[in-house]
Amino acid sequence: MAKDKSSAFRARLLSVAGNSLTLEVLDGKVSSADELLFCSSSQTRKVLSLREYDGHILAEVSSAVEVQIGEIVAGATQRPECVDQIEAEILWLSAQDMLPGRSYSLVCAGQLVDATVTKLKYKVEEASAKHIAANSIAHGETFIGNLSLSRKIVFDPISTGLKTSQFELRNGDTEVLAKGEIRHSLRRASNVYWQTLAIDKAARSKLKHQTPKMIWLTGLSASGKSTIANIVEKKLLVMGRHAYLLDGDNVRHGLNKDLGFTAADRVENIRRIAETSKLMLDAGLIVITSFISPFRDERRMARSLFEEGEFIEVHIDASLAVCEERDPKGLYKKVRQGALSNFTGFDSPYDIPENPEIKIDTEAICAEDAAARIIDYLKE
Ligand code: ADP
Repeated sequence: MAKDKSSAFRARLLSVAGNSLTLEVLDGKVSSADELLFCSSSQTRKVLSLREYDGHILAEVSSAVEVQIGEIVAGATQRPECVDQIEAEILWLSAQDMLPGRSYSLVCAGQLVDATVTKLKYKVEEASAKHIAANSIAHGETFIGNLSLSRKIVFDPISTGLKTSQFELRNGDTEVLAKGEIRHSLRRASNVYWQTLAIDKAARSKLKHQTPKMIWLTGLSASGKSTIANIVEKKLLVMGRHAYLLDGDNVRHGLNKDLGFTAADRVENIRRIAETSKLMLDAGLIVITSFISPFRDERRMARSLFEEGEFIEVHIDASLAVCEERDPKGLYKKVRQGALSNFTGFDSPYDIPENPEIKIDTEAICAEDAAARIIDYLKE
């Protein structure tokens, strides 16, 4: 790790042709006595010659390198860190609250990865610098949190003063949501390895003679999700398929009994359900989930955990008026009496799915036909 800014050299690889490189210098100065380290691929090359051109450095190195454009290049004796778990201090700039568990894009020295705040440690009160417990972060607030990244990035901790310690969180790759600084890597990141198992998803699903699938039902309360999900599970059983229905009630009574209905808790609710389902698919099962899952971002996050073609989003649709009329659990009545808040469709939003694999209008077809449509889709 670089100890102070003056001695460390950090650059981004802009282009490479054989043993000729173009580097964008981020920090420090490269000298012809240096050996260059290509941080992601861990290759090193001696510098043969250097010259400046158009604000960049053109370098000839001892032999050709096979590296990715954008790779971070450092002096071989000043190796930066490379992990996918970090602790950071973040200034939140977006008008929309930061919610742990939600997926954001992180950009650090040109490296773009998906990032999730896995633990919001505390926010820092501006005037007093006091640490305050929080479960979401509003515009203008600064917080300390742990982040999990979709793949490893090369970086330096903020104590080095290097630009490779700074990052932005963005919405996609455009709108800047936050500015952050990496405090340090989380040690567990380098200590935990996913054990390579000889028995995998393919082997387990072959044993069951089925293809694991994630059937994700989304829709307003009383739109018909549970009713239809139950019929789908029965039909699969009759077909000799091993399915499992994860339902709002069975999950909220156990795994998620610590969660309520605030936006932050809803995000965490969906994250746990998606991760649980992923394990079940890995076991070879066909999983059906029946949750309102009102936020598009969380449904996208859930989808991103699965392989191409595995995730089947089913919009169980009915108008709010019809759902209120059905009201099988008397929840809408409670909302009208003012006894229930944060209720989807009233004081909590429902983002209509834009591109679901299946859309079912339960005002137009009965539950039995709706389930049959889902089964037909699976058969295809
Ligand atoms: P959700 O799980 O979406 O909250 P439920 O399945 O618990 O909804 O409740 C839906 C209610 O609507 C049930 O009482 C069901 O009998 C009724 N219903 C009426 N028409 C349909 C339909 N086409 N599909 C599913 N449910 C329907």
